[in-house]
Amino acid sequence: MFEQASAPIRIAVLVGILFTMALTTSAPLAAPPAKTAVPTAASPGAPAKPVMPPPLLPGSESAAGSAAGAAGAAAASAGLTPGAGVGTSVGTSAGSGVTTTPLAAPGNGPHWAYEGDAGPADWATLAPDFALCGSGNRQSPIDIREGIKVDLEPINFEYRDSAFRVIDNGHTVQVNMGSGNAIRVMGKRFNLVQFHFHHPAEELIDGHAAEMVVHLVHKDADGKLAVIAVLLEAGQAQPEIQNVWNNLPLERNEEVHATSRLNVLNLLPEDRRYYTYMGSLTTPPCTEGVLWMVMKTPVQVSAEQIALFSRLYPMNARPVQATAGRMIKESN
Ligand SMILES: [Zn+2]
Repeated sequence: MFEQASAPIRIAVLVGILFTMALTTSAPLAAPPAKTAVPTAASPGAPAKPVMPPPLLPGSESAAGSAAGAAGAAAASAGLTPGAGVGTSVGTSAGSGVTTTPLAAPGNGPHWAYEGDAGPADWATLAPDFALCGSGNRQSPIDIREGIKVDLEPINFEYRDSAFRVIDNGHTVQVNMGSGNAIRVMGKRFNLVQFHFHHPAEELIDGHAAEMVVHLVHKDADGKLAVIAVLLEAGQAQPEIQNVWNNLPLERNEEVHATSRLNVLNLLPEDRRYYTYMGSLTTPPCTEGVLWMVMKTPVQVSAEQIALFSRLYPMNARPVQATAGRMIKESN
């Protein structure tokens, strides 16, 4: 689910509903409104060719997945035009209390999970849009080892005190950010859209998994994604993580507008050296073409902070995927 894009999605659904109303005068609809044709953003007012809704899953990177495929039909049908996901979200005012996000409700896409019948080994079979989860050869996470040591350019962080919203989307705890936070790397500017957590960490470093990881999901103006991973290990309590935990929603799929503010700079390690490789979303639809940057130095969080998250999500990590000869670079 692309929580940040709830405004565009709402618009898309509203359009869909109006469209449905228009249709009902001529043709009864067998499917519920959520499954009816939605005019694509790419072709507003397009003819009534039924379009399956995109996999608007309450997922973590999957949220971003729609953005990653912004050039694709699925994202277009969700109205996720590049750049629209950031800064146009609902809830521009901090402290406006709890609001529900109806579109985040379960059932908007195929059910998937980290264990059991709909677990990672079966993701590719759950929906046509999930095929890459099985057939892709640039998938994430990976076991990071034998990186090529070079002088990687520093990532330029443009993070600042910001309002934030927290949602438990059924796959992770996700923090949705408004506009105004970005990174500059590889000649591009990527806006920070959201960040979320995994327990244990998904990516391995020489076979070792940190206790948790936070994934900072960024998107550039073309809809390309860049994810920064910050590994979390037990130690001192982390104030910004506590800030997020303090604003945990009581109910799943209900977004809490935090009354406090947050600066993502506080989540970064002092040493900003990193590993980098090209990979994918680690949740369905496993979209590829994602620039990954994994901080080499972990950040400490307290055992209690880890325990709180693991109580909600004992295991929400996709297994590592084949590196398949991909280049991994790392900062000297
Ligand atoms: Zn993630």
